[in-house]
Amino acid sequence: MNDCKTWSVSLVALALAACSSADPGSDPTDTTSEPEIESPARSEQGPGADASSAGDSPSHEGRSRGEQGPVTAAFSAADSTAENPPIPDLPDDATRVIGEAEARQVAEEVANLFRPIAASAYGATIEFDPDDWDGTIGRARSSVHAGRIWRITPAGTIFNPYLTRDVMRLLVCHELGHFFGGFPFKPENTPGATVADAGTFLASEGSADYFATKECAWRVWAGDPNNPAFRAVVPRAGREKCDNAWHDQARRDVCYRTLVTALDVLRWIAYPMDSDIHGPRIETPSTEVALVTKTAHPDGQCRLDTMVAGAVCDKPNDLSKIPGLVPSPVTGQYGDHSVAAEQDAAPYACHDGPGARPLCWFKANMPGYVPAACTLPEGGVCAEDGSGYWVCDPIQDRVFTPCSLGCYYDSESQIADCVT
Ligand SMILES: [Zn+2]
Repeated sequence: MNDCKTWSVSLVALALAACSSADPGSDPTDTTSEPEIESPARSEQGPGADASSAGDSPSHEGRSRGEQGPVTAAFSAADSTAENPPIPDLPDDATRVIGEAEARQVAEEVANLFRPIAASAYGATIEFDPDDWDGTIGRARSSVHAGRIWRITPAGTIFNPYLTRDVMRLLVCHELGHFFGGFPFKPENTPGATVADAGTFLASEGSADYFATKECAWRVWAGDPNNPAFRAVVPRAGREKCDNAWHDQARRDVCYRTLVTALDVLRWIAYPMDSDIHGPRIETPSTEVALVTKTAHPDGQCRLDTMVAGAVCDKPNDLSKIPGLVPSPVTGQYGDHSVAAEQDAAPYACHDGPGARPLCWFKANMPGYVPAACTLPEGGVCAEDGSGYWVCDPIQDRVFTPCSLGCYYDSESQIADCVT
């Protein structure tokens, strides 16, 4: 590690959001909305039942989360006409719980879609930490290193009864979003960082979620014959958004699949809480309005809103350019929030309507600023009572993330995190 200078580390983890929020009390599991749809039926599968996961370690065997009830096929009747043949059942990719061998395979497949552009445009190599899939810090994190190594480090905590192939795809898309997503950036990128070190700055959590559905999901699922199956289960509010955004049925089908998977990702994040009952819903978007852009994980509803927005935004990135990666005129630093960075990134996002980044985390037209003089360790610090942890934030000085199961500090990585 000593010959590989790490200048920024992201406490990524889609997963941290299970118990992370800048706003105490806004934990995604705290909402009280009714379930929107029945969760897709998960096949019963005992350990080792799937041949493709036979090589998994015992702790990461594919596990069944049990039957969750029948799929609500709200639209199947209308679609089963002469012009529209019956919709197929949801594919295994959306229903079967996977173990480590399959998770690694899926991760490589998704990364392979972006490796060529990472290499040609940035001289960067996207890699997965080969050894740390047993880790306990968060669920996955992204980091960038000298030598232009863009590394994703999944942890053993990704393996829960909601990890399907599709959920794994979207979580890798999120991690890739930290590399490609750009403005607004994570605050951890700023101290002493140079673009020359790694070719990018880690994007904020909101940017990573937006990228996951705006840039990555359709590349992952384009042309997949299973996509039409999701017409039957996408919530009506989501279907309407997709239909309004896209005229091509194939793209609409990808959009449906993206939204269904986003809902599953929220269930995966919330585990072991049951978000089927108290989870975020597409038709109940957050009403929160952030006073300043949040760079850490927003709450679950806000994250769902962001992923929905990305799925229906028609302003694609130029993947050979990191949106907003220009020096701040205020600080001289890349990655700092500035009007110049926002303007540079403007062509690559929707600014009005359903595809716009939601107000619950994104504050448009913020002036440039000088980062606050926060003195906490870069990896954060647990609160004295263990109820959460603090990290520095260049806008809000410091942000508290509550932990429902307590906080711990990993001395090796020097990162404070929630017990999961
Ligand atoms: Zn992240």
